[in-house]
Amino acid sequence: MHLKTILNRVEHYKSFVYGEMRMSEEAGRPRIEVQVRPRANGRPICSGCHRVQPGYDRLAPRRFEFVPLWAIPVFFVYAMRRVDCPDCGVTVEEVPWGDGKCTLTKSYRWFLAGWARRLSWKETAEVFGTSWEKVFRAVKHAVMWGLVHRELKGIKAIGVDEIQWRRGHQYLTLVYQIDQGVKRLLWVARDRTEESLQQFFAILGNRKSARLKFTCSDMWQPYLNVLREQARNAVLVLDRFHVMAKFNKALDEVRAAEARRLEADGYEPVLKHSRWCLLKRRANLTTKQTVKLSELLKYNLQSVRAYLLREDFQRFWEYQSPAWAKKFLREWCRRAMRTKLSPLKKVVRTLRKHEDLLLNWFRAEGTISSGTVEGLNNKAKLAMRRSYGFRTAEGIEFALFHTLGELPEPKFTHRFC
Ligand SMILES: [Zn+2]
Repeated sequence: MHLKTILNRVEHYKSFVYGEMRMSEEAGRPRIEVQVRPRANGRPICSGCHRVQPGYDRLAPRRFEFVPLWAIPVFFVYAMRRVDCPDCGVTVEEVPWGDGKCTLTKSYRWFLAGWARRLSWKETAEVFGTSWEKVFRAVKHAVMWGLVHRELKGIKAIGVDEIQWRRGHQYLTLVYQIDQGVKRLLWVARDRTEESLQQFFAILGNRKSARLKFTCSDMWQPYLNVLREQARNAVLVLDRFHVMAKFNKALDEVRAAEARRLEADGYEPVLKHSRWCLLKRRANLTTKQTVKLSELLKYNLQSVRAYLLREDFQRFWEYQSPAWAKKFLREWCRRAMRTKLSPLKKVVRTLRKHEDLLLNWFRAEGTISSGTVEGLNNKAKLAMRRSYGFRTAEGIEFALFHTLGELPEPKFTHRFC
């Protein structure tokens, strides 16, 4: 069987045929070169207007990198024709395997992009003997194609979250679709200002924004402002994960302050290494940590009181009716205020300020599952790590869209990966 037979099976062109194929050596490595020529009587197509136009001349042969075969690089060699187009002037022809000035064929770009979703970008480059930059270009192309061709219809629920992409408060704003059955990244913007989120609504448009039923966010005020303004018909829900994160932060502060005080008073350092016992929920504790916790509970410590209050708050999420949840919330806040612990009082102030939004959790009737945004956010962090080598927000944006965007791809006659 000839290589030509395989190529015609996996990558057949109406107006071009494969000619001579040969293997050569370059720097001690084999490579396969495949000559491509136009079919007899095949007339060139202008890349400006996509219409058949009279030929003008031919350029020197160029090489286009194709999907490697048995780890041997494969190149198409083709001398591009130029057309004399009445509308576009003298223009290079359009060819089905590539576009513009890119030296990678379309098939190879989608091949690299496909692998870059499974492996890190660095690994992809290594495995297929190419450069990180080429992998980057392939992913960028796949994302651009996907963004142009994706549908934004039928979005009912969105979640907004921020992610730190670089030290020193460098954030990206991420908007996810969190409908049952469709969870994907819809938008990435720099910073976490109102402007960052406004950009998403500008893309979504007024009509689709008006159809949103639920929006979900943390307590970051700029997000809340924009969600209230732009998604007017939606129930705004505070993300359970982020609410509980406030408790953990408060618990941490109480514990740290108390540990310092105990040590200064000459008590044994009972709170050392107890951080995780206090932060973790009881059900998630290991045996050793459980012992530590029971040891801790013997003391009537502020940390323990704060811990128990946090644990008790978990009951809030289990209510069915907003009215009873509200009663619980107010009662809980009163008890927390009595502890006179300032980190807890801060939590209470936050809860009171956002009481309405907290109670929306029950108005959404379980439509928003607590882990959704958090789960997507963890995937986003993983995607950032796997594409490392980035110094720019732009690169990270492409990586995030590529792995979390559920972006469409063109239909192929043959899938290379
Ligand atoms: Zn033209």
